[in-house]
Amino acid sequence: MNFDTFNFSPDIIAGVRALGYTTPTPIQIQAIPPIMKGRDVIGLAQTGTGKTAAFVLPILQRLLKSPRGRVRALIISPTRELAEQTCETVDELGQQTGLRSIAVYGGVNMDQQIQRLRRGVEIAVACPGRLLDHLWKGTIDLSNIEVLVIDEADRMFDMGFLPDIRSILRCLTKPRQTLLFSATMPQDIRRLVQDILHDPVTVQIGRAAPAATVSHALYPVKQHLKTALLLDLLYQIETESVLVFTRTKHRAERVAQQLKGAGFKATSLQSNLSQPRRRAALDGFRNGSFKILVATDIAARGIDVLRISHVINYDMPENMDAYTHRIGRTGRVEQNGDALTLVTGADAGMVNDIERVLNTRLERRTLQGFDYAISAPDSDYVRSPRHLPARTVRSQPLVKRQFALSAR
Ligand code: AMP
Repeated sequence: MNFDTFNFSPDIIAGVRALGYTTPTPIQIQAIPPIMKGRDVIGLAQTGTGKTAAFVLPILQRLLKSPRGRVRALIISPTRELAEQTCETVDELGQQTGLRSIAVYGGVNMDQQIQRLRRGVEIAVACPGRLLDHLWKGTIDLSNIEVLVIDEADRMFDMGFLPDIRSILRCLTKPRQTLLFSATMPQDIRRLVQDILHDPVTVQIGRAAPAATVSHALYPVKQHLKTALLLDLLYQIETESVLVFTRTKHRAERVAQQLKGAGFKATSLQSNLSQPRRRAALDGFRNGSFKILVATDIAARGIDVLRISHVINYDMPENMDAYTHRIGRTGRVEQNGDALTLVTGADAGMVNDIERVLNTRLERRTLQGFDYAISAPDSDYVRSPRHLPARTVRSQPLVKRQFALSAR
């Protein structure tokens, strides 16, 4: 099957080709036809499945005809990163269509957004808070919306955005097509679906479980040895881009510092960062100048880097959904990825949950040559590479390490 099956206009096919897509992904095969027919659709798909193009392509097709210069499609995203990435996808796929888009999110000056809106756009990709600011100021007009997309609805719910979404919905008066994408379906999202979707078609890609192209492994370790083990893992395994998850912002920053101190091209992404610094971290990670990004769950939402070869859970995620979302960053669209999780005794319950959902026992791995017996120092552990347990630092001559790094 190829993209010709959908009867997109040549201008849209040009965008598909420019992005190098040859075969539609399963979510695209299932979701594009009903969306093209104007049906409301619930897409149960995690990131990495190609869900963005599944809704962007039919939207472009629909908007090709008739009026320009007014906002006719609204895509609501939980985070600025996802909003920006979706907007990029719109621009890339729609590069020959003349359709214009805007990403609307907070943390940056409103004036530029207002000017762009005044110049005229057809597609707005917006985070709820800033969109409401524009609505209150009267600087965005949603009276011409024909298609509404609620993307990553479960994340939106986790982040407490559902009341904002309902406020936004009250401003959409015209009958419209509504599409809702979510990796999971918590009760509140089901209720929202009942309230706002009309006779929806549900398309579901697999279960709400991590992608099948990802291999999972556990590295049991004591808490105080996590950083040392992470460093040794990074020295030993072949990686492309690596996304490391920590539970707290503070730890994300600290682990990134430790990796940098050990010579890795690493940076961190956490919600305390200013917008320019987030941008710099993300751009650097995308263009490869940073090989390792250490992030918290919230900060990492929506990160789309095609060549993430490894997701490493420095800390176990809080629940299965978070695990699925983290792991969704690797193994994207038919590529293989590895998900490595450092586990301590306290994580036994979550390990059980993951094994139940994946319906398999996860491999427990021991890193060869790593000294698991080092006892915890009295004070806070491993503050800098100089304080790492002896084996990690001393047994790797600096030249060998630098070689290992430059070879990556
Ligand atoms: P998404 O699930 O929308 O975040 O998409 C994940 C990644 O898959 C993005 O980098 C897309 O550019 C890419 N992608 C989407 N559709 C296709 C396709 N049909 N073939 C190859 N890559 C795709």
